[in-house]
Parts: sequence; structure tokens; C-alpha cells
Amino acid sequence: MQPLHIATPLIESLTMSQRVSANIWLKMEALQPSGSFKIRGIGHACQQYVKQGATRLLASSAGNAGLAVAYAGRKLNIDVTVVVPTTTKPRAIELIEQEGAEVVVAGEDWDAADAHTHSIRQTSCAYIHPFDDPLLWQGHASLIDEIATDGLVPDGIVVAVGGGGLMSGVAEGLNRHGWEKTPILAVETFGTDSLYAACQAGKHIGIDHITSIATSLGARKVAAHSFELLQTHAIACHRVTDYQAVEACYHFLRDHRIMVEPACGAALATVYEQADFFADKNNVVVIVCGGVGVTLERLAEWREQLRLSVRPNPQ
Ligand SMILES: *Cc1c(COP(=O)(O)O)cnc(C)c1O
Repeated sequence: MQPLHIATPLIESLTMSQRVSANIWLKMEALQPSGSFKIRGIGHACQQYVKQGATRLLASSAGNAGLAVAYAGRKLNIDVTVVVPTTTKPRAIELIEQEGAEVVVAGEDWDAADAHTHSIRQTSCAYIHPFDDPLLWQGHASLIDEIATDGLVPDGIVVAVGGGGLMSGVAEGLNRHGWEKTPILAVETFGTDSLYAACQAGKHIGIDHITSIATSLGARKVAAHSFELLQTHAIACHRVTDYQAVEACYHFLRDHRIMVEPACGAALATVYEQADFFADKNNVVVIVCGGVGVTLERLAEWREQLRLSVRPNPQ
């Protein structure tokens, strides 16, 4: 079966490389037909569930996963319902509806929307989790396959972390190519830092509230598998402020003329802030995870709000 995602470009960024002592390679997931990497894993999972006889796809999402399911549904000719939290941007809802999916708004964050999803689930419905499903990780891993095909051997990968699906896929892909020692810089914003909390505690704990504008990273607790990866893979947990994430979106827009969500800006910010991770590396791939919940106007509003607040990210 043809995958629903596309093979994305791997671009060397000279401007970003010059900020750190390493070559920065951008894996351009923002160019996926659904605007983020999510279609890799979700497309793969949806194909499997439809093959197994599902007659409807049901998803909970902060936006990008829902759009990926809606896109997959249109391509596979099957009905889709997406439950989104109240924080989901109107633009993201519009795009999901444009794909022909039904959108239900419920709950103040993804966890609450997800709880609602389970209350309306019916038997012939395949439930698509936005990050905690081995089929998703298998699909996301294709991104590392492409890097290998392009002939690059990275000595570091930077990923944004919400529930950890992307990170799990990256780890699976690295393992496939015998690159299990390649370190991952796992980036969250203050206020979505559930992996960081678990990492610090050495226990699979979460955080109580999402208090960041990077809502695509807003899982109160990461998947169990993501927590386990902290024990088996070289993963450094890193946090940036909302302000740094938004500024990184602007830097990236100027450097590469592509607009991404603050969730993706968080990963990019590590380069613009010259994180220690790059100091001893030659070739680092930054996953430009993308995201559709952003407009120029929204970006400007965030920047203004964060500039005005005295302590943008109380810790
Ligand atoms: C979903 C998403 C993430 C986080 O992915 P997880 O698999 O939940 O860790 C990061 N960036 C964007 C743009 C996303 O849509």
C-alpha cells in the first residue's frame, strides 16, 4: 500500500549551522500534506485499521493529529470524527472540517478531549491515539529511513515532545539503522514539560496543568513507552520558554521562509539559543515538525503578550 505521507526534503541550514558549532540539517515535516509529521504514523495506523474492517475513524487531538486523521480519512474514503479541546485554534478546526471530517469541541485540554472521545466511541470505530500506539511509532520511524537513504549519518537528533510519539518513532528508526547510540535532544516548553518532570523524578509522573501556548505539546503525561525510552536511549530532556519558542518561529521564518507552530519553534529554539547539545556534534538533524495552528497574526499576538508579561514562564 502506498503510504499517505510524502518523503520530505533534508536541507542543510547554513544560517542555523553558523549559530552553533555543528552542521544543522532540517527534516522538513512542515511540508507534509497535513502540515506536520503526524501523517506518517497516523496514515500508517489508519491504513491498518481500515484493512482490519474499521468503518469510521475517531480521534482526539489538539489539532495536528486530527488533521492527519481527517486527511487519511479522505484518502481512504472513510468517515472521521475528531474531538478537539477548546484551546484548538479556529484555523485548525477549519482545516479539519475542510477535509470532510466532523469536529466536536470538548474539554479544556487534550486529556479532557480524549476522555470525551471514549464516551462517544462505537464498536466499528477505530480509535486513533495521537501518540501512544506502536503503529504510529512504526510510521514516524520512516523519517529516519529517509535520512539514511539520503546518506546522512547524524550524530544527534532534536525533537519536540508532547506525548512522545515522535520521539518514540525517531528512537525506533535509529534502532532500525544501528544508530541506537545517537543521542536525542527532547524539547518541551515550560508548562508542557511532562517528559522533563518524569525524567527528574525517575518515575512515570505527569504535570497537573498545561500552562504554555505550545498546545501541540500539551500532554499532561507522556506515554509509558516514552518514559521507558529514558532508560534505554540517550535522551537529554530540555525546556525552553514560550517566548523563546515564538522568537524561534520568527527566526525560522526569516531564515527559511516557512511558518511553524511554537511547538516546532521549541525544537528550533535550541539552535537559536545555542544549547550545549550541539557543542560536541558534527551533524545534527532538527525535526521541523510543523503544525497548522499558526497564522502571522497569531504569532504577532503571542509575541506581544509574552513580551508584555513580566514573567512569561513562572516555574
Ligand atoms: C503532535 C506534535 C508534536 C508532539 O508530538 P508527540 O508525538 O505528541 O510527542 C510536536 N509538534 C507538532 C507540530 C505536533 O503536531
